[in-house]
Amino acid sequence: MSTKAVTSTQDVVVVGAGFAGMYLLHRLRSLGFQVQVFDKASGVGGTWYWNRYPGARCDVRSLDYSYSFDPELEQEWEWTEKYATQPEILRYANHVAERYNLWPNMKFETAITSAIFDDARGRWTVTTDKGDVIDTQHFVLAVGTLSTPKLPEIPGIESFKGPKYQTSLWPHEGVDFTGKRVAVIGTGSSAIQSIPLIAKQAKQLTVFQRTPNFSGPAGNRKLETKEVSEVKSNYREHRQRAKVSANGIPFDFTPVPTFSVSSDEQQKILNNAWDTADFMRMIASFEDVLIDKKANDVVADFFRNKIRSIVQDPEIAEALCPYDHPIGTKRPCVDTDYYATYNLDHVRLVNLRKTPLTEITPTGIKTTDESFEFDAIVFATGFDAMTGSILKIDIRGRNGANLADQWKDGPTTYLGLAIANFPNMYTITGPQSPSVLSNMMVSIEQHVDWLTDLFVTMRDKGRSVIEATQQAQDEWIHHSSDVGNASLYPLANSWYMGANVPGKPRVFLPYLGGVGPYREICDNVAAEDYRGFVFA
Ligand code: FAD
Ligand code: NAP
Repeated sequence: MSTKAVTSTQDVVVVGAGFAGMYLLHRLRSLGFQVQVFDKASGVGGTWYWNRYPGARCDVRSLDYSYSFDPELEQEWEWTEKYATQPEILRYANHVAERYNLWPNMKFETAITSAIFDDARGRWTVTTDKGDVIDTQHFVLAVGTLSTPKLPEIPGIESFKGPKYQTSLWPHEGVDFTGKRVAVIGTGSSAIQSIPLIAKQAKQLTVFQRTPNFSGPAGNRKLETKEVSEVKSNYREHRQRAKVSANGIPFDFTPVPTFSVSSDEQQKILNNAWDTADFMRMIASFEDVLIDKKANDVVADFFRNKIRSIVQDPEIAEALCPYDHPIGTKRPCVDTDYYATYNLDHVRLVNLRKTPLTEITPTGIKTTDESFEFDAIVFATGFDAMTGSILKIDIRGRNGANLADQWKDGPTTYLGLAIANFPNMYTITGPQSPSVLSNMMVSIEQHVDWLTDLFVTMRDKGRSVIEATQQAQDEWIHHSSDVGNASLYPLANSWYMGANVPGKPRVFLPYLGGVGPYREICDNVAAEDYRGFVFA
């Protein structure tokens, strides 16, 4: 037990007031649990609170990227666009907080700094940077998978005298780039969404690209009343299909083996998907794209040819063509006019593969070839994904086990939900669960529902402590690695592999077995009285 005086006693402490923390609070509180949620942010929404860069929006259709737990909520909320903007998603998060009166159990602008398990009492002592000391039975990390921003390791980064912006820490009041010479470093999803809009304002825009990404047209548009009512009149069945699907998104087509159709037919299928901006069909029309390199090449070549057809300067087009990773093994992007932006006279692409970035100076950026002057720099350089926010907290489990030590060669979990030696501690959408490979709303709800059932069962049966066994965890890791390693994913230097953070162990972080099959595994574990866990 900590020597500090306890300031409150809870059944459950939840770290994070994003969609995961909010839903967990709602479910548990309605079942009579005493719950306290903490967030560093000054409001709800997590990802959608922090990522306010121009163009930020979801790339899973709004009607799918939303809670399913309350039919009244899904009927009353009106999404206005195919892919909702960040402000609209944040409004939705606030609407949910208001509708279910979540506010009294959430404390903002407060970071959890440590969590220590007391073996004798079977309880956690959780501390915050504001001096709270909470004694709690359960400790839930709903900290988000993409919530620890990562700045690049570039010499001189602090020296730049103009404003520097990180896409995931964007100023709430917005930024006006009118008349400015702007640099963007990075070409991941955040950059690809923001570059066309920054280009609309800036006098000059220079994009520093180390690795090109595959991107397809978003085809974003206002939602039509007819399509909304079609989904809404059938929402239960629609949600059910998402739950049992591979990635939390209901398909309305059947993928086929790439080479089961002629090459003309392959092109027809892909062109149709491109022309109708059907992102799922672009990537998933063929079932073997993520396991067979030759099949992957068919789709990757199609995308590269599209880039060449849009970008007028052949040299720039070639620089924008990804060759270093199979398509889909890095998160594919969807965009609005991204490639066409490079046809604008005031937009320039600097290929860092040819002329590496050497330094940030007080007035700009230097590459091996050139010195650039800028008024502002935008870092679209990503996140310490999946483990970053968990490991920022000093977490000590049974017998003083240190989570950072236990994970020094990569995260190890049972089902991406629990960790051996850390009783009564849980990760929502944690490593080795489908998580970032899925529509996260579906995966969040599945984890929250599973945990809620667990807590109720423990309460009903008078069980106070649960812990994943080492054996169950080892077997899960083994299975999760086998599934991941049988795919093309390990070929990419992606954040899925931890490859974007120097020194981070290179392991495939999410579980590739699919949302539907994974749900079945979790349900079976629960049905067998929580197989792989021990109770005390
Ligand atoms: P988050 O929303 O990340 O919330 C976690 C919260 O925990 C944060 O508010 C953070 O401040 C807080 N926190 C972390 N550590 C601490 C601490 N120590 N103390 C206190 N508070 C802490 N997913 C999709 O499925 N579809 C999409 O289209 C999609 N688009 C995305 C776009 C962007 C720009 C990004 C970055 C991610 C996107 N994602 C998308 C993934 C997105 O993160 C999830 O969909 C979802 O919002 C995650 O919710 P969450 O509650 O699990 O975590
Ligand atoms: P990201 O995909 O990790 O992209 C980061 C970019 O920064 C990469 O292009 C990377 O290049 C570059 N970079 C990093 N360090 C650099 C350096 N030192 N010098 C030059 N370039 C450097 O991050 P993100 O764009 O923020 O996206 C992260 C994830 O968030 C996405 O994959 C997605 O899951 C989610 N997201 C979704 C949406 C959406 O459309 N809904 C939008 C934004 C984000 P390298 O590849 O060479 O490392």
